[in-house]
Amino acid sequence: MSDSIRSHFRAPIRETDPVISAALQAEKERQASQIELIASENSVSRACLDALGAEITNKTVEGYPGNRFHGGADYADVVEREAIERAKQLFGSAYANVQPHSGTQANQAVFFALLKPGDKVMSLDLAAGGHLSHGAKPSQSGRWFDIANYTVDRDSGVLDYDAIAAQAEEFGPKLLITGGSAYPREIDFERMRTIASGVGARLLVDMAHFAGLVAGGAHPSPVPHADIVTCTTTKTLRGARGGIILTNDDDLARKFQPAVFPGVQGSVHLQVIAAKAVCLGEALKPEFTTYAHKVVENARALAAALMERQVAVVSGGTDTHVVLLDLRPRGMKGQIAQDVLMEAGITSNKNPVPFDVAKPADWSGLRLGSSAGTARGFSAADFTRIGETIADLLDNAEENATRSDAVTRARDVVDELCTAHPLYE
Ligand SMILES: *Cc1c(COP(=O)(O)O)cnc(C)c1O
Repeated sequence: MSDSIRSHFRAPIRETDPVISAALQAEKERQASQIELIASENSVSRACLDALGAEITNKTVEGYPGNRFHGGADYADVVEREAIERAKQLFGSAYANVQPHSGTQANQAVFFALLKPGDKVMSLDLAAGGHLSHGAKPSQSGRWFDIANYTVDRDSGVLDYDAIAAQAEEFGPKLLITGGSAYPREIDFERMRTIASGVGARLLVDMAHFAGLVAGGAHPSPVPHADIVTCTTTKTLRGARGGIILTNDDDLARKFQPAVFPGVQGSVHLQVIAAKAVCLGEALKPEFTTYAHKVVENARALAAALMERQVAVVSGGTDTHVVLLDLRPRGMKGQIAQDVLMEAGITSNKNPVPFDVAKPADWSGLRLGSSAGTARGFSAADFTRIGETIADLLDNAEENATRSDAVTRARDVVDELCTAHPLYE
């Protein structure tokens, strides 16, 4: 074997590509030393990382298990069949397609299967917690379909089902979508089913955010009520980046197969399918039930600690992993809050609050989440402390005299918690 061939197969990245290697190492250290509160993030298992780095990444397959366009697909089929079976078992669904490269592609495939350009779609408003892929102006879904958004009640911050029913009656959507990225409360799936059926619409529940809570029995399942359920494996499900489509309807299942491939995607990312199978396997274990319940308990502890310190929380709390802060009563922008938390080593993201019409730079919300912190072992008491620390940072964010002391105090808490709860070693 020539040296260059040997090196191609054996030399580690730290020897062959110092620039990327250093960035990966620094990112690993960043994750270990900061408190991750971005609600869409989580920390996958070592086993998931192993699958993502496996040689199966070399294999090209198109099509589905048992019906591939390329030879040598035996182990690809083992992996994908296992991922499908685990997804079906975990969510109690008759059909699962595990190939979508992301949550957005899962939704895109559903639209491709069910809609034509110009068709009417109703979805949750972005400011009220909806998602870009549900028909936001800059996304393909927003360009190609006729979109109407419903929203939450102005006072409670909770979905107003009577208003949604009246709007659906008037608009007449072909597809009704519910689920979002920053809606902290349980959704009444039965009521949404009734509204959809009343106007002859299909109901899509996008559980990208709370799929892990459903898997762990800490949140009601939309699967018995929706025509279609999409999700990511990334967020509360604590696994690889990717999407899944579920349905109990045979006719829809037959449409989704060709809609994913060759409709909107090409070859399968087998290393990701393997990692999805791994995280779905983890989610089938009893420990995951404990994890999912702790995620919700911890988010509630975080919300309670913040409200105790006069930080407004949208809808007055949470049923999920999401805690959405409303900074309008403080006259503060989300960006200021995000920045002061970041200085202390706490990552979060600015977000609109319901009826926020401002540009991203002027958004008045800060979105927090408990899934990643819970994965590394933070308790409810730890989340109470994190909440108090965030309140202290917000109280001092715009006070020149006291800001840097508050950041120092917070940094000490972050260091202590991160040291006590290490990540990958
Ligand atoms: C995160 C999210 C998605 C998209 O997931 P990607 O994998 O980032 O494409 C879709 N829908 C909802 C509701 C989400 O929160």
